[in-house]
Amino acid sequence: MTTTPRTYWLEHAWLDTHVEPGVALDVRDGRITAVRQDTPAPPPGAEILRGLTLPGLANAHSHAFHRALRGTVQVGSGTFWTWREVMYSVADRLTPETYHELARAVYAEMALAGITTVGEFHYLHHAPGGTPYADPNAMGEALIEAAADAGVRITLLDTCYLSAGFGEPPNTHQLRFSDGTAEAWAARCSVLKERDHARIGAAIHSVRAVPADQLATVAQWAEERRTPLHVHLSEQTAENDACLAAHGRTPTRLLADHGVLGPRTTGVHNTHLTDEDIALLGGSRTGTCMCPTTERDLADGIGPAPALQRAGSPLSLGSDSHAVVDLLEEARAMELNERLHTRTRGHWTAAALLRAATADGHAALGWDDAGRIEAGARADLATIALDSVRTAGPLPRLGAETAVFAATAADVRHTVVGGRHVVRDGAHTLVPDVPEALARAVEALHA
Ligand SMILES: [Zn+2]
Repeated sequence: MTTTPRTYWLEHAWLDTHVEPGVALDVRDGRITAVRQDTPAPPPGAEILRGLTLPGLANAHSHAFHRALRGTVQVGSGTFWTWREVMYSVADRLTPETYHELARAVYAEMALAGITTVGEFHYLHHAPGGTPYADPNAMGEALIEAAADAGVRITLLDTCYLSAGFGEPPNTHQLRFSDGTAEAWAARCSVLKERDHARIGAAIHSVRAVPADQLATVAQWAEERRTPLHVHLSEQTAENDACLAAHGRTPTRLLADHGVLGPRTTGVHNTHLTDEDIALLGGSRTGTCMCPTTERDLADGIGPAPALQRAGSPLSLGSDSHAVVDLLEEARAMELNERLHTRTRGHWTAAALLRAATADGHAALGWDDAGRIEAGARADLATIALDSVRTAGPLPRLGAETAVFAATAADVRHTVVGGRHVVRDGAHTLVPDVPEALARAVEALHA
């Protein structure tokens, strides 16, 4: 975070409802202190951001280590469950050092994609076999440090993961994930400290992985700290079937009955839901994090996002398994999936999709003061080029439509986090060669 006052001049700015040409932002101590419209030329000394500047993007659901699976998991066929076996083989090899190196590169890739905050759903806690590291939070600390190195904010959603399925102890791979009990999970996470760039939140891996009698302990921990609580919810029909068999109710109903739902809770995926589930999630203002590129990659299905939103569930977006890291693609995929599903167009406006990718995504991660270009908000910005082969042509006033429906992460020209220029002209200012860093980190895990 910079303490030096600074002015940014935005050729075009997305101000939540429309594109405004010529906007100067005064920034101090990492926050926007003034938004000056009607500024057709850059004030002297201002940093110039050419293109369309959006608020920084929030990636509300990430498992950083899944980035090491890119390509590898596209060979052959199978299901979510066969994909998971490959994912576990990478998880088995990570150490705090190799995880730090990988996550630093992955978060740098995110910064290059205009992402200013990541929600890391983190369950890889212990050494192989389940032995705690000397610092029992060594893995979480590696992720927090990696985010600092890459210049992005993080909400570490420290994840409780205790069982392989209903009434089943963790399998060999999952021993690394388990603290034994929710109480032991809470004791470990309570040691983690928040910092300027890092919040500590909670997660329940899923109703498969946390026994029903342990759910309330996690919910209470999050409630006491007024911190976000995320949970993978009904991504697979097999999970619904097993939950019905074990408890005679759906996963959503089970979470509701144990006090897990509420406005600080986000269900991730929310794919296979009943009408009652949708009413429970919406009525409790529980959020929905859609991860469309992962959901299509893993052949999960298409969740009822429009119905959830209508019922009262705010939407956010995540790149989850990092099949690709591109929040613009996530935003348009949510709309385009729905078009294929319903054979009608226009379920969300570009403005609504951008809100999910910015303000509502940040709120889901506990950063209510980020994701907007307005006085008092954090100075987090993502500038999209409007002169690339993908984006040239449409009028600048259609910049939001162009960004959401045609631009890609490759069109992100600048990323500013808390007033600090983390990506300038498409180059990361802190991690000199991001592709090389990714290649080195991934290679180390496949060697
Ligand atoms: Zn996930």
